[in-house]
Amino acid sequence: MKIADIYKGNKKTLSFEIFPPKKDSELKSIDETLEVLCELKPDFISVTFGAGGGLNSSRTVEIAKTIKHRYNVEPVVHLTSLHYDRKEIDSFAEVLEAEGIENILALRGDRSPLLAEKDDFHHASDLISYLKKDHDFCFLGACYPECHPESPDRISDMKGLKDKVDAGASVLVSQLFFENRRFYDMCEKSRIAGIDVPIIPGIMPVINAVQIRKMISLCNATFPDRFKKIISRYENKKEALFDAGMSYALSQIVDLLAGDIPGIHLYTMNNPAVARRICEGVRNLV
Ligand code: FAD
Repeated sequence: MKIADIYKGNKKTLSFEIFPPKKDSELKSIDETLEVLCELKPDFISVTFGAGGGLNSSRTVEIAKTIKHRYNVEPVVHLTSLHYDRKEIDSFAEVLEAEGIENILALRGDRSPLLAEKDDFHHASDLISYLKKDHDFCFLGACYPECHPESPDRISDMKGLKDKVDAGASVLVSQLFFENRRFYDMCEKSRIAGIDVPIIPGIMPVINAVQIRKMISLCNATFPDRFKKIISRYENKKEALFDAGMSYALSQIVDLLAGDIPGIHLYTMNNPAVARRICEGVRNLV
């Protein structure tokens, strides 16, 4: 099923993001995680893709296959393009097609001093335009409530986003954020720019202070005072931080779902307890 079709109805969606484990020893735990996540019946599960690929990219496909064929849940495969040429992208697309995978979250990928950039795809929109010519995938794209860190300002950020949608992205999924007004503001500017596809907020509950500080520095998200208070009070109390982080995320989610937002994409961090708690909190809202 193509993810864009889900948004043609009035139902609000709940979807999850997971990442392939780096170590062989973690492969068993991803199976257990998938079992719980799929039992929660999400509308789709997206599987991240390590820039530069390697072992990690084959794991992305393996996990997506399991989600689709073992659990009958729709997978979305993330695909980055900056470090690949057309031939490599062609082979990847062929593998996905052969496995019946219909949805790609098309990405440029982060720059890394350790990985050589190739010249075929400079932006996610180039990847979408290229794949669209010969394939029938549904394309999702990324968007940034606080602007992509490389965008000099919101206007150029919006132009890039409009290019992505004009190229064929039919659903957008946002970077994490901790203040809903940032997301609403991006949505409003997108609509003014003529972007009319569903825009799904990405929510990451805080359950680990070290991890969240790293994420925030990587993705530029603003750390509101209300949120800083939670971290400084509970960072050394695991259970308390879990409760507080879940309550914070749920308050964001309830506010989003009470408005016109078409669904929530939850960054699960491969933690089934996170997904379960959020599902319990929103069961009657989606
Ligand atoms: P682009 O859309 O190409 O944008 C990058 C920059 O170029 C922006 O500043 C944009 O404004 C500008 N731009 C875009 N189009 C144009 C254009 N046509 N002309 C001029 N400028 C333009 N990374 C991974 O490695 N693996 C993952 O699995 C992964 N999953 C992600 C999932 C989500 C929901 C999000 C939000 C991000 C994810 N990322 C992932 C991170 C992503 O790869 C980085 O944020 C990357 O730096 C940008 O990717 P993009 O596809 O948004 O790039």
